[in-house]
Amino acid sequence: MKFLIQVRDLDRQSEYEFRGLNATELNLDKKSSIDFKKIDAEVSLNRSSLGIGADFVVSYSAEFTCMRCLGKFTRTCNSNLHLNYVEGEDPYLCVENVELTPHEADKVFYHGPQIDLSIGIREAIVFSLPITPLCRDDCPGLCPVCGIDLNTRRCSCKGEQDGFFTAAATENKKTTARKIKRNRK
Ligand SMILES: [Zn+2]
Ligand SMILES: [Zn+2]
Repeated sequence: MKFLIQVRDLDRQSEYEFRGLNATELNLDKKSSIDFKKIDAEVSLNRSSLGIGADFVVSYSAEFTCMRCLGKFTRTCNSNLHLNYVEGEDPYLCVENVELTPHEADKVFYHGPQIDLSIGIREAIVFSLPITPLCRDDCPGLCPVCGIDLNTRRCSCKGEQDGFFTAAATENKKTTARKIKRNRK
């Protein structure tokens, strides 16, 4: 397991680099509508009295599905994340829906001789995913009446602002915001 680092081998400061990771080894493949193409990560670890501070710099490209027109588009994203690996038991392990303060939210508990860097790489990606993926900001989407892609053709239907597609986009935004709140600050 290349993501597992032996704590006793760590110097005061250590750097790790991962190139060409795939979604499966990071347990990201269940994100159904996103097809991850290429994932690179740099991690720097700093030992301190509080534990092991970890800075993650992750870049990836992925194919998304536009929420408005349902077309596929590829985008490159960058994300930075800081975590503290702390030895001990997670006090919230069996509690659902904890609202963590920012200070608690960047803690990852570990026991045993090693820490798992895939946790931070995965979280950096999940945290940076677009809430509402759009192929472009002004994508006109699908006509709510006849369903044609208004990026490619026009139709003569009367515009309906609150059609099915607009409602679906709003609902997705709410769900994702809730998830982020629960997982991370
Ligand atoms: Zn679109
Ligand atoms: Zn139409």
